Amino acid sequence: SGSVRLDKLLANMGYGSRREVQALARAGAITLDGAPVPKADTRIALTPDLPARMQVDGRPLDPLPGMALMLHKPTGVTCSHKETGELVYSLLPSRWRMREPPLSTVGRLDKETSGLLLLTDDGDLLHRIISPRRHVAKRYVATLARPLRGDEGAIFAAGELMLEGEDKPLAPAVLEPLSPTLARLTITEGRYHQVRRMFAAVGNHVEALHRDRIGGLDLPADLAPGRYRLMGAEDLAAIF
Ligand code: URA
Repeated sequence: SGSVRLDKLLANMGYGSRREVQALARAGAITLDGAPVPKADTRIALTPDLPARMQVDGRPLDPLPGMALMLHKPTGVTCSHKETGELVYSLLPSRWRMREPPLSTVGRLDKETSGLLLLTDDGDLLHRIISPRRHVAKRYVATLARPLRGDEGAIFAAGELMLEGEDKPLAPAVLEPLSPTLARLTITEGRYHQVRRMFAAVGNHVEALHRDRIGGLDLPADLAPGRYRLMGAEDLAAIF
């Protein structure tokens, strides 16, 4: 935590340039505990209750740096800052695109994959979740073009499957058939198009893919596609 100048804090949170924030402060548009903070060089203590105590233009302050979100990614949006087309960031308040440090996705889901996607501006948290050494499990539900043969679970569990173009076998993964053409698959790695390529390696084809769990954190049943929610300490604890 610590403290930071008001204009630097709000500029980093995307409220405008430092000059623009200074003008907002002078105009009385920034309040703390209901009282205007007219001087933009005021040092502000970064306590977790600040977003509830500070208002900008009559609205509670955005989440402080160190935020984490869960998003129900719909199909058709891309997990990238660079590509064209609709990006996952377009599902968030536009001001958040100007934040520093920037929000980024924790790993990626393919454009045509839906489900639980985490975003954070906390680099340490991001690396803790995606680090291969931590083996955070990711669970997917795959809709398949063809019925399961019956041997796929054993092949995935053996930890010997080699994907096309790679030189290191996949770690063991757990398959749970739900119907002849629907299965859960839990993996601990995050290789490129991993789930689609695993089913391709056993002669099948993934027609739809949805992630419903990361570690012990489930996609909330009441979080509709395209909607997001701030993560609390319990949500973060559930991942590891
Ligand atoms: N595996 C895939 O093939 N695609 C995803 O989006 C995630 C895992």
